[in-house]
Amino acid sequence: MRILASRLHGLVQTRGFASSARRLHNYGFIGLGQMGYQMAKNLQSKLAPSDKLSIFDINTAAAEALEAEMKAVPTGATVELVTSASDAASDADTVLTVLPEPQHVEAVFRSILGKGLPKRERIFIDCSTIDPSTSRKVAGHVAAAGQGIFVDAPMSGGVVGATAGTLTFMLGADEGAVPRVEPVLLRMGRKVLHCGDQGAGLSAKLANNYLLALSNIATAEAMNLGMRWGLDPKTLAGVINVSTGRCWPSEVNNPVPGVVATAPAGRDYSGGFGISLMKKDLRLAMMAAKEVGANMALADKAFAVYEDAEKRDECKARDFSVVYRYLGGKESS
Ligand code: NAD
Repeated sequence: MRILASRLHGLVQTRGFASSARRLHNYGFIGLGQMGYQMAKNLQSKLAPSDKLSIFDINTAAAEALEAEMKAVPTGATVELVTSASDAASDADTVLTVLPEPQHVEAVFRSILGKGLPKRERIFIDCSTIDPSTSRKVAGHVAAAGQGIFVDAPMSGGVVGATAGTLTFMLGADEGAVPRVEPVLLRMGRKVLHCGDQGAGLSAKLANNYLLALSNIATAEAMNLGMRWGLDPKTLAGVINVSTGRCWPSEVNNPVPGVVATAPAGRDYSGGFGISLMKKDLRLAMMAAKEVGANMALADKAFAVYEDAEKRDECKARDFSVVYRYLGGKESS
């Protein structure tokens, strides 16, 4: 691994210099959904016209729309719409994947590796939120096939961050691969936090989102409780936010309408971080916790809350702070 890493570093340094080594200018992007579409747009716009970006999604309409948007702007990398994941990867030095769930990442890599592409020191950067075990398994398959290295770089910042190019990436990669991965990610985000070896980015992301899943419910419960005791919600949030209960759900994403003007609660819980994505991340964290025997005393109960809330018409497809509504919290003053 160490040898591969230093060879990769050597490749990075050849970029822009006259050298017999191949220049790193071919990119592949697979998965153009809510996040990937915007990320690919930012990446393409910040690459040079001599670079090439091959894009693919099974949703042809999304891929065609993105191709048209990119081609309408005269700057940035050359765009090529391809018809399979392996076509997106075959010519590329750097391949990004932004896919929904572990099974989609596995399927895409099965199709890429099954094609017997020319062996090359590609970097595969997977920004999907999946479980660390699946991620490590796919990384093993990539290495065994001699197709390059696979790193995990799940992200936070949501669609707003993806559009603005301000995402934070949690990177799991061998130290030697970081100089090659970081500049790519910084074209789509503002921060890259190197968390450790491959898989560590996902572990950090899932631990954080586990905490968020619980603090969101706890905030909704505490706000509902205080208001039922007669407290004014803004007064209560003001106390919590300078006290020991302070957390992101209380301060930024407060679930009570009107407490934080910009929070999704004030617009019928629209936008924000969808309740289904929260449930998905919680499920992945619980799966990964089981594998290492970590005791998660509150996990099952929290999962049941999201699972039940997600099914209700008044909560489904809304920001996850809608659990306040699910608990029967008062929404008008
Ligand atoms: P999405 O469902 O909007 O997009 C996923 C895309 O992958 C879709 O366009 C789908 O057609 C495509 N896809 C599925 N299978 C494919 C295949 N075999 N080949 C090619 N394309 C395929 O999901 P999203 O909201 O963009 O999220 C992507 C990942 O990022 C998820 O893992 C999610 O948990 C994570 N994430 C999302 C957010 C968010 O706010 N949406 C925030 C942080 C992290």
